[in-house]
Amino acid sequence: MKKYLFCIVVSLFLTSCNYGLFPQQNQSATTILKNNKVWEEVIIETQFYSSLQETLIEQGFSVEYALDFTRSLKWDKFLSRLKDGDPIRILVYQKNTEQNRIVYSKIKALKITHNTKDYYAIYFKDGYYGKNGEILNSTLFLRYPLLKKPIITSHFNLHRKGPFSRRTRPHKGTDFGVLRGTSVIAPADGIVTNVSYQARGAGRYITLKHRANLKTVYMHLSKVLVKKGQKVKKGELIAKSGNSGRSTGPHLHYELHFKNNPVNAMTFKFPQESIIPTLAPNDTKYFKYLSTRMGYLLQ
Ligand SMILES: [Zn+2]
Repeated sequence: MKKYLFCIVVSLFLTSCNYGLFPQQNQSATTILKNNKVWEEVIIETQFYSSLQETLIEQGFSVEYALDFTRSLKWDKFLSRLKDGDPIRILVYQKNTEQNRIVYSKIKALKITHNTKDYYAIYFKDGYYGKNGEILNSTLFLRYPLLKKPIITSHFNLHRKGPFSRRTRPHKGTDFGVLRGTSVIAPADGIVTNVSYQARGAGRYITLKHRANLKTVYMHLSKVLVKKGQKVKKGELIAKSGNSGRSTGPHLHYELHFKNNPVNAMTFKFPQESIIPTLAPNDTKYFKYLSTRMGYLLQ
């Protein structure tokens, strides 16, 4: 399959367009200065061939970036349906290095047309969104609220039997074997809804509320670093693990609740659809503008 690439310098493109379409933002600034280097906004027009990674590598993106980009999107099923020759348009910034090589920025927007339907990935703030603001990133909710992949010392099990009686003693969370003082991070953006202490149970614990009816709980902490009502970002340090409350040794007991029911945080499939609306109300307006602009440029 013959692949082709041609770039359209958007600044030229825009001069020939009616600026009135985008009256509010500084949308005409398609040539930007960054580190004293001129970055130009360009559109790469190509066709799907073999896989999205390969298509991107073929266009000059690094192998690492192409893999990273493809993996970061929840597009597994969609990508497997694509056929060689499906049109792809990519909006990206590019600059020329002193060695006259072209370097690309992160992909700003990408459109794939499959069976006459258009699919978009639009970069906004810290992730990729679909045309209507739906989340495309697969990594918006971290699997572990820790910096390193931990050892699981006790799994989620709602039918666990107690050690001495035959009574069911459900284990509503996952226990991670971590040393006292290990950093605990927020697995996703959220708000601190509870900071409490329960001497005979959870010990020092906190609860976070996230989008889409999701809640997380962290127990047996040694130190809490957030306050009730505080907003936290994904990856933000929220506590130090410990051994407080009823606990037989230092560990972190971590719970995930969906619609107020405990679920297995290690296997839970985060509901993409239910995460809509994904954008904060303040962001929605700007995203709409951005999405319209990207749709227009990638037409
Ligand atoms: Zn536990």
